[in-house]
Amino acid sequence: MTQELLQAFEKHYSKPADYGYFSPGRVNLIGEHIDYNGGLVMPCAVTFGTYLLISPNEDNVFRFKSLNFEDEYTIPLKDSYVKDGTGWFNYPIGVVHHFVKDGHQLGGLDMLYFGNIPIGSGLSSSASIEVVTAFALNTLYNAGYTKLELVKMSKSVENNFIGLASGIMDQFAVAFGEANKALMLDCETLNYEAVDSNLGEYVLAIINTNKPRKLAESKYNERVSECATALAALQTDLQITNLCEIDAETFNKHKHLITDPIVLKRATHVVEENDRVKLAAKALSENNLDEFGRLMYASHDSLRDLYEVSGVELDSVVEYARTNPNVAGARMTGAGFGGCAIALVKGDAFEDFAKECAACYTDKIGYAPDVYSSLIGNGVGVLNDIPAHA
Ligand code: ADP
Ligand code: MG
Repeated sequence: MTQELLQAFEKHYSKPADYGYFSPGRVNLIGEHIDYNGGLVMPCAVTFGTYLLISPNEDNVFRFKSLNFEDEYTIPLKDSYVKDGTGWFNYPIGVVHHFVKDGHQLGGLDMLYFGNIPIGSGLSSSASIEVVTAFALNTLYNAGYTKLELVKMSKSVENNFIGLASGIMDQFAVAFGEANKALMLDCETLNYEAVDSNLGEYVLAIINTNKPRKLAESKYNERVSECATALAALQTDLQITNLCEIDAETFNKHKHLITDPIVLKRATHVVEENDRVKLAAKALSENNLDEFGRLMYASHDSLRDLYEVSGVELDSVVEYARTNPNVAGARMTGAGFGGCAIALVKGDAFEDFAKECAACYTDKIGYAPDVYSSLIGNGVGVLNDIPAHA
């Protein structure tokens, strides 16, 4: 991969690349629609993501080229930047904006990006390009940010520069990911535990439904406000600041305070899903993938029936998975209404799984999904096989 990229860089810029970086994408293994309720999520980095090669220039400009997009950009060095249109360069220039705003003196850079991750499908290519850029600039200019500061900066690019409301999980996972570990992250405190996740004979199958996530944003906001309603109702009896502070047992004692049946369903999902994350961490660390798989299915059912954020496309994938004896568990991942599902599939049965799942899905939905296999990979880092690092 790196050799091809080095050649592409040299072809485009007529000089070799000096530095190279990689940041993965992520999936959330379990703990869905939990981050904005202050509870536990369990993402991991995947083994594909975004590559970035860099060579400084003397021209006081940033040149942005991506092998994934036609458009390329030359942007002069300035003291600050604002979002300009919808071009992809807004993601990296949003990161540059934070560096210059904090007073760091940057120089001109020629940059080449390549993502071998599906873009715009819920695997967080956006967090991946933000974090790889932030990590690269921090390393190149010795800017001294901690990894957590780079995560927060990247989240701020997404929220304030690009303008998308989202939690911190994505940037956190792509920055802190570790091979064969899931990150059990407390979204309230940002404390996390890297949980041993030896997948053994299994691989992580990622099934992109290729369904545009049209409804996702409006329904996301609706769910956020339903959870706020549930919290307010419970606060008449309980001194809590978010729903995930209570477990299912406490919730059951007080849930009569929530009068709207829809809001009650939403809150039930949140509390039970948060409990499931704890059970999932225990199952993973004990190598009990059958139990982990059972929790994945339970999470999916809850998202489908109580939180109502699935859809016929995601449900079809999970229904197929249940019929395949080589699958331990499956669920939708991400905000829902499209995007991706994940499944734990025995490695030597993956090819058959991919074929049958695609056929079954296409039959029902009318178009094909994309099916990938991944392991749990590392977070952002330097590419060691670039000449300057060798
Ligand atoms: P997701 O994060 O689920 O992949 P988003 O819509 O949040 O989807 O982010 C996708 C956007 O991120 C792309 O439209 C593009 O602007 C930017 N992006 C991601 N990866 C790359 C890349 N390799 N090259 C250029 N831009 C990228
Ligand atoms: Mg994104």
